[in-house]
Amino acid sequence: MKQTKTRYTIIRYDDNRILARFIKNITPFSFRNWFARSTPSRIDKLCKRVQRVLGIHSLQFTVTIRLFADRKSFVAGYNRLYGKTSKKVPRSLYDFLYKVIYVNVDDVDEEMLAHEFTHPIFREYFKQSPPRIITEILATYVESHLHDRIKRY
Ligand SMILES: [Zn+2]
Repeated sequence: MKQTKTRYTIIRYDDNRILARFIKNITPFSFRNWFARSTPSRIDKLCKRVQRVLGIHSLQFTVTIRLFADRKSFVAGYNRLYGKTSKKVPRSLYDFLYKVIYVNVDDVDEEMLAHEFTHPIFREYFKQSPPRIITEILATYVESHLHDRIKRY
């Protein structure tokens, strides 16, 4: 297993192509990004953006992100962790116990990772974690308002 550290994350993956694919898929398409080299700093940029959308500043924390190459290995990894269930396996998830974000690089995009980042950010920010339903509502908000102009209150 390979590992890359960024400011906010420790990324774990099987080979470099998986990491490259991950970074490419969370980089929004634009003329500038098309020519810019994909680097792991893109991941921190997105994490910072999520914090700004939530009005949270200068939070220092680290979250592990485990990358899977495709749906098949994601589901296999999920079943290893939680045991086989009849429940629908999600597209990505944050494990509150192990503090790990699990993603399938085939499927991931910027919004999906922004959603998952919301969970460890809340966990770090609040002394007592808000009810799960509240974090899901706000994670979904972040996901769909990632590029909106940030409101000031
Ligand atoms: Zn969620």
